Amino acid sequence: MGPAAIEERVSKTVVSLGGQRYCVVIGRGPLRQLGARLRKHLPRKTCAIISDDNVAPLFAKRVQGSLTVAGFEPRLIAIAAGEKSKTLEKAGAICDEMIAAGLDRHSFVIGLGGGVIGDISGFVAAIYHRGIPHVQIPTTLLAMVDSSIGGKNGVNTRDGKNLIGAVHHPSLVIDDLEVLKTLPAREFNQGFAEIIKHAVIADVTMFRALQAWKASNALALQRLIKCNIKIKSRIVAKDERDQTGKRALLNFGHTVGHAIERAGDYHKFLHGEAVSLGIVVASTISVKKAGLPPEQRGAIVDLLRRFDLPTRLPKNLPRKKIFDAVKFDKKFESGKIRFVVTPRIGSARLSRDVTMEDIREAVDEL
Ligand code: NAD
Ligand code: ZN
Repeated sequence: MGPAAIEERVSKTVVSLGGQRYCVVIGRGPLRQLGARLRKHLPRKTCAIISDDNVAPLFAKRVQGSLTVAGFEPRLIAIAAGEKSKTLEKAGAICDEMIAAGLDRHSFVIGLGGGVIGDISGFVAAIYHRGIPHVQIPTTLLAMVDSSIGGKNGVNTRDGKNLIGAVHHPSLVIDDLEVLKTLPAREFNQGFAEIIKHAVIADVTMFRALQAWKASNALALQRLIKCNIKIKSRIVAKDERDQTGKRALLNFGHTVGHAIERAGDYHKFLHGEAVSLGIVVASTISVKKAGLPPEQRGAIVDLLRRFDLPTRLPKNLPRKKIFDAVKFDKKFESGKIRFVVTPRIGSARLSRDVTMEDIREAVDEL
């Protein structure tokens, strides 16, 4: 393998957020050098590897081995896989286990898993001894292109998702494409909902590349992940604390997407699948309220289908449940919603003209 090929196997991108600069390493196999890499970034010895019981049996040994060889003392903490583990109680139990293992303010946390693990491990890192470094090793496509970037973490409560959390940026993110090989196809595809969202709101060139997407091209996937990290971090950098409405553009497809997740009692649809349906609704509304050309709406729907994402609601899902969930959404204010529309592919803006009736009509069409 020549130098160029080696160069291509692993690429780095620097993210500047929260007054911090950190590196995202993307490629095939960077986990193998994890220990050596961390030695450069974190002159600390003890750490917790927080993972779940699907991911830990697959990759924890590789991670622990590399860390131990490099002189670290890792402690593996594996929790039950799935959204139900993202609770305050579980975060507390992890902290207790870390205290019992003797981890202190000079330790750090590694999150090894999908978005659930990224969120709960980031939250633990933010509160443990008032904040210790967090290293993200995302193992789902969704976590690589979305949840590992931006610094938001959190847990769910009885009343809703992500109601408790913090902003705590990672010190390092390692995206190893090798880990995606064990990811079930449905989980892989849901990552494309967020990728397509990024393309629609910010990057028409990426949208066209996705229209010609060939699944087997690993280098193209590496570039695609990098491109998405850049889009998300650029948008977050403009409005880190969600104050000016710029970060809210990332919610394209999510007002109705979240409502569909809730209406499906959080098990009928994966997050990305609900977002796919939400993108269809947001595109329909964009035709009506933002002048999106109808053929561009068609291209968005076709692209979602290309990645086996749902674009029609199952007949047995009561529409009323979705409207009720939208109404309870915190963005609903005095009969109007802060709704993200796209006037043309590659751009987005917040609209205050979208009414419940517009949503009702667009959901009825789904
Ligand atoms: P997840 O973490 O539940 O992972 C999905 C499933 O895949 C799990 O069963 C997991 O055990 C399994 N898995 C993970 N990696 C695997 C691998 N390489 N091989 C085999 N199986 C694997 O879910 P997700 O879709 O990655 O993330 C969703 C979560 O992310 C939600 O909780 C959501 O709220 C959160 N999120 C956070 C942000 C943010 O900015 N913080 C953004 C988007 C989503
Ligand atoms: Zn999302």
